Amino acid sequence: MSILVAGAGGFIGGQLVKSLEEDGHTVRAVDCKPAHNWYYRSATAENLIADLKEKDACSRATKGIRKVYNHAADMGGMGFIENNKALCMLSVLINTHLLLASHENSVERFFFASSACIYPNYRQKDTDIEALKELDAYPAMPEDGYGWEKLFSERMCRHFREDFGVSTRIGRYHNVYGPYGTWDGGREKAPAAVARKIALAVITGQREIEIWGDGEQTRSFMYIDDCIKGTQMLMNSDFSEPINIGSDEMVSINQLVDTVEEIAGIKLKRSYKLDAPTGVRGRNSDNTLIREVFGWAPSVKLLDGMEKTYRWIYDQVKARAEGRQFVAAL
Ligand code: NAD
Repeated sequence: MSILVAGAGGFIGGQLVKSLEEDGHTVRAVDCKPAHNWYYRSATAENLIADLKEKDACSRATKGIRKVYNHAADMGGMGFIENNKALCMLSVLINTHLLLASHENSVERFFFASSACIYPNYRQKDTDIEALKELDAYPAMPEDGYGWEKLFSERMCRHFREDFGVSTRIGRYHNVYGPYGTWDGGREKAPAAVARKIALAVITGQREIEIWGDGEQTRSFMYIDDCIKGTQMLMNSDFSEPINIGSDEMVSINQLVDTVEEIAGIKLKRSYKLDAPTGVRGRNSDNTLIREVFGWAPSVKLLDGMEKTYRWIYDQVKARAEGRQFVAAL
């Protein structure tokens, strides 16, 4: 069966291509980035470079395809999404044109990578919040820019399913991390940023770390293997409502730093940048629904996932410090 992965040059898309091919599927992998910037580039997939904001590109990309995974979006950590709201909202063109093209080309199933950023700010004002259930999405007041685009696109998927019969699936990812993802440049998320800063401290001997905010803001972080497993379970199921795919191991950013310090065997002096973008005060995934539907929920412990992530990021930082560009073979 031919499967399209949109955003295949990115972190999650790349790992999805790898996993789908391991399961014996034929994959078309599409991204707008130049080939040398893809985190994972399969030698056997049909790799295409195209801007999926364009309707024609979406029509070509979905021709002969039975399943579409839409993981293409302009996105990043809080530093990026708070300062690039219009760019984030323009991703609506990708999902809209991919849905239209999927309908035209009789695609059997369509996955949309949504986000915990669709949940209303008013439910995330304390560090010790109640975990977010799927029904908490309304009344809507998502993260400005990025979150509104995700919520709108969720609804677009729903109406294409109800009105046009496109069989859509919507996973609400909560903070995904792991090797082969963005670790510097301004789009990286907290786990990668913390791992990079600690690796740099180990390599340079500068025993300090800057933390955004007071470090007491809380989140849960899902390891990439859980993300890929949950995504495929949802895609291959009959469940068509939006569903959380996230870890429910909630930690503060200070605890995340503690974890990576423990892995690296180092203790750093912390300075707090209180005017940096930090997003909501507290967020966690309520996994009642995913357990009910699949008898499964993401379970990789932060310590175990960060161990692998730190090792990979350490190698990237070290290679760069030595003037090499290092990406280990997958
Ligand atoms: P990523 O930035 O690594 O990958 C996204 C990819 O989409 C990039 O390679 C980018 O070049 C590509 N892209 C952007 N615009 C495009 C266009 N016009 N045409 C073709 N390709 C385009 O991000 P990721 O972490 O792999 O996230 C994948 C999806 O999951 C995104 O939709 C993201 O919003 C969603 N998501 C991710 C997280 C997370 O923690 N990583 C959390 C919630 C939701």
